[in-house]
Amino acid sequence: MIYYKTNEEIELMRESNLLVSRTLAYVAENLKVGKSGKSIDKAAEEFIRDHGGIPGFKGYRGFPASLCMSLNDAVVHGIPSDKFFTDKDVVSVDCGVILNGFYGDAAFSFAFKNVGLGVENLLRVTRESLYKGIEAVVVGNRIGDISYAIQNYCEKVHGYGIVRELVGHGVGRSLHEDPEVPNFGMKGKGTLLKEGIVIAIEPMVNMGGKAVKQLNDGWTILTRDGKPSAHFEHSVAVRKDGADILSNHSFIDDSVKKNEEIIDISINC
Ligand code: MG
Ligand code: MG
Repeated sequence: MIYYKTNEEIELMRESNLLVSRTLAYVAENLKVGKSGKSIDKAAEEFIRDHGGIPGFKGYRGFPASLCMSLNDAVVHGIPSDKFFTDKDVVSVDCGVILNGFYGDAAFSFAFKNVGLGVENLLRVTRESLYKGIEAVVVGNRIGDISYAIQNYCEKVHGYGIVRELVGHGVGRSLHEDPEVPNFGMKGKGTLLKEGIVIAIEPMVNMGGKAVKQLNDGWTILTRDGKPSAHFEHSVAVRKDGADILSNHSFIDDSVKKNEEIIDISINC
């Protein structure tokens, strides 16, 4: 069942998503070689609570942290650990909060200075594909138009692998609502986009093959071939004049630009 949001509810969701975006920007400031994911997760939880929010992931189906932190060949759902970051790590960070009774949900992948050009390109293409998907958010289009745009750009144009087992989703008073938003599919298929639908669009893109496996921690999803993966996510409302992006990656870019250890992968969009 799809919950269509009123304009007032969309404004509340914008606040939830702005807190998510500010939290990710705060994470971007603090990502340093020699720091651990666990220490950043703790700081992010304090940041969320200090701003009146509740971490949306902590305790969700038993997840133990406020952030999902997925390094290198981890695709999504990684648990922040005591391991120290190195200058070759890719760190995908997914953040959810509850504010005013609504979830915000957004994600961003960060590259430390020495990940190499190939990985930098993976991140840039994944991020661009998110906007290819968002361009298809038009009343009267269908979910498949979003899915196709992302898949075509990542697989056909760039030869990367799109993860099949995990998908984007409706978001609102629940973290995962209908409809599902796959990153693969066919134009003109799936749920009709109507005003008031709010969806999290979140391409998960592997440098190598599309196959994934789950780590025995019960959470972390890894690429099967051990190659790196990237993940970018926005929460987007369908409005009569098109997509209204409720989360904001520009705060994150600003923080990345100030952090000399992280590569700036801002794109034109
Ligand atoms: Mg997310
Ligand atoms: Mg999501």
